Amino acid sequence: MSTAKDSAGQSPFDEVNARLDEAADLAGVPAEAMSLLKAPYREIQVQIPIFSNSHLRHFSGYRVQHNAARGPYKGGIRYHPHVDLEEVRALASLMTWKTALVNIPFGGAKGGVACDPSTLSESELYDLTTIFFSRLAMILGPSRDIPAPDMGTNAKVMGWAMAAYGKMNGHTPAVVTGKPLSLGGSLGREDATGKGVVIVTGQWARDNGLSLEGATVVVQGFGNVGSFAAFHFVDKGAKVIAVNDIKGAIRNDKGLDIEALMQYVAKTGTVAGFELSDELNSDEILLQKCDYLVPAALGGVITSENAGQINAKVVVEAANHPVTSDGEEILLKAGVEIIPDLIANAGGVTVSYFEWVQNIQQFAWNAERVSEELQRILGGGFAQVLEFAKENKVTLRQASFGLALRRVYEASKARGYIRL
Ligand code: GLU
Repeated sequence: MSTAKDSAGQSPFDEVNARLDEAADLAGVPAEAMSLLKAPYREIQVQIPIFSNSHLRHFSGYRVQHNAARGPYKGGIRYHPHVDLEEVRALASLMTWKTALVNIPFGGAKGGVACDPSTLSESELYDLTTIFFSRLAMILGPSRDIPAPDMGTNAKVMGWAMAAYGKMNGHTPAVVTGKPLSLGGSLGREDATGKGVVIVTGQWARDNGLSLEGATVVVQGFGNVGSFAAFHFVDKGAKVIAVNDIKGAIRNDKGLDIEALMQYVAKTGTVAGFELSDELNSDEILLQKCDYLVPAALGGVITSENAGQINAKVVVEAANHPVTSDGEEILLKAGVEIIPDLIANAGGVTVSYFEWVQNIQQFAWNAERVSEELQRILGGGFAQVLEFAKENKVTLRQASFGLALRRVYEASKARGYIRL
């Protein structure tokens, strides 16, 4: 997510808050309660010194704990050069509403380190992670705050994070999710966000008398979320006709062979040059004609600048906050449906919840159980969004914020924090 302000002068955190204000009436939340519900509970910044090759550098790391009325803080840790407090704050707030919307017993948090992990050696990344998590350790814990992977981090980083926390607190697998299987990670966690994107899109299609079979899909970003979303779209009979990453974009009108592409990316590190495709100008990826456009990379990529040129029927927000408010206005006017991030990418945190449950119970589920429960929780959550949107004649995003806000408000009242 870029922290650049949009044309209305709004930062991503302002935008999330504007959407919450808009949903307050729908959720039945009194105006007086809104400023507390929008504000983060705690924000932490630490410095992470890295000494290597006789040089000392330091990186800034952040954790924002937004709201824990419904359960421990939950959310990923991002390693990316754009990370700053403003971005982390917006993403932490989104986690509060995401966990509430799928009704799992967590609050919302997010963290990150402003760094470019591709320029760090494995041992520098290990040091950075170990120091960062040691400095956060006193605010983490299975019943306090549970990090997970996000952009630029992965299972390996979560394994190191668990070990750093464990040195101070004893072996505690439930303190992070998205871990390697060998450390108590869950089956089905790696592809959970991408799989969830396709579960929700398929459900939207059915609700509109359509099917994913033969539908055309364009995926922007081919990282963990984008690649597995593409894989599961193809599994459901859709054609993924174009994808990109930071090094290039490719297209094949007959549908890309996603399994072969994933193998190619594992070897080369990029989709660029994949032999079973034509090259495409990366700037044009979002403008391709398709049924489903899936932004699965950074936030703030569909704005007032390009929204008028989008040629898709539905935008599925696999990334967090990929469409700015003024971009959304243009899309809605043009009749483009938006399946919002709060539900579209909630598959990841849902399987994180399963991982936490398995760690606490010290009992591992099989892949079928993970898959069934993901379908049940995410599908159930989206069914409520679809119904609430129809009943109240609002967009899917307004319905998502309305339902989530109501749940967090009810929990805050039940705790006695809000006596209104
Ligand atoms: N980083 C993911 C997200 O933004 C997953 C968070 C989690 O599993 O806690 O939803």
